[in-house]
Parts: sequence; C-alpha cells; structure tokens
Amino acid sequence: MAFTPATEKLIQALQALPGVGVRSAQRMALQLLEREPETGQRLSSALSDALTLVHKCPQCRTLTEDDLCGVCANPDRDASVICVVASDVDRAGIEMSAAFQGRYFVLHGVLSPIDGIGPETLGLVELVELARSGEVSEIMLALDDRLESEATVHFIKEQFKESGLTVTRVPFHQMKSGALDQADSRVIEQALTQKQTLGFEHD
Ligand SMILES: [Zn+2]
Repeated sequence: MAFTPATEKLIQALQALPGVGVRSAQRMALQLLEREPETGQRLSSALSDALTLVHKCPQCRTLTEDDLCGVCANPDRDASVICVVASDVDRAGIEMSAAFQGRYFVLHGVLSPIDGIGPETLGLVELVELARSGEVSEIMLALDDRLESEATVHFIKEQFKESGLTVTRVPFHQMKSGALDQADSRVIEQALTQKQTLGFEHD
C-alpha cells in the first residue's frame, strides 16, 4: 500500500467530488496532512457543521438551516408561480436578480436514467403535490439546454397535462452565456421577461 489506510480512505472520499481524479485527490490529501493540518481541521469542522445544520426545505427542497426556507416562510411571496430549477446555485442566481417574486422548487439534478436519477430522486411527486395545493396556477421551468434537461422539461410538462395549470419555460436554454449558474442578474432578469407557455396540443 502506497499510503496509510486512513490516508487512502481520505483520498477515496475526495475522489467522490465532481471533477476530482485520483491524482488531484492524492495532492489534496497530502497537502492537508503534510503541510496544512489547520486547514484540514477547519475543513473538517465546516463540513461537519454544514451536514448537521443544512437540509432541504420540506416544501421546495431549497437548502436551508430553518424549518422552512426563507422564500417559503415569506407570506409576501407570490404562491401562484413555482419556478423549477435544477440546482440551488440556479435558484440563488434567480433570487439574486430580484426579478422573480414567486416560489421555487429545486430538483437537485435532472433526469438521467444512466446515473440512476429518476423522477423520485428529483422530488417530482412532491412537485405535483405542491402544485395541487390550490394556490398554484403556473409551473415555470428554468432549466438549461442539456439533453437531460430537455427530457426533464418534457417529463414535467406531461405531469401537468390534465391539471389546468400553465406550464411556462424561461429561455435560459437559449442564452449565449450558457449555464444559468454563470449568468449575471441582468441576463436572468431579461430571460424571465421572455418566458414562453408550453402547449400540449401536439402531444
Ligand atoms: Zn422552501
């Protein structure tokens, strides 16, 4: 064995992070253990605190430290529109733009059968339940242009086929700047004004 068992375990844990291969994981682990034990302690306690305190809002799946997230707990937010986003980063981007006054639903991913991500993982049953609460009249999809996102848009649209709700899509998938999490507030605000209603007539 090249490293101690605990070091190997740390390297393997780091490799689970997106974009981190075995070489990067080895470099990170050894840097923390050899030269920056204080940084390692800080990282360890920040991670432990975050895992203890942060959970998904039971209503919209936004990451929060409270019983309900700030948006769901705010009676001044427009409960008739639910903006569906793929990640909490996207939700934060839209929220920063201050151009949207409705509520959110965070999927934490998009449909990807090859990775085992199905409708249950994305909370789509909960989304349909939330939409049936009576106050909701519009489901606004704010997803990007990846193939999986398109499939997700189609799937969600189908769920509301007979519901009488309006399903709209914000044209984030047409933005030149690409991913929603890289867009600035002005671009997000502009895209929100250009949302389109998705029709059911061709299904
Ligand atoms: Zn919430």
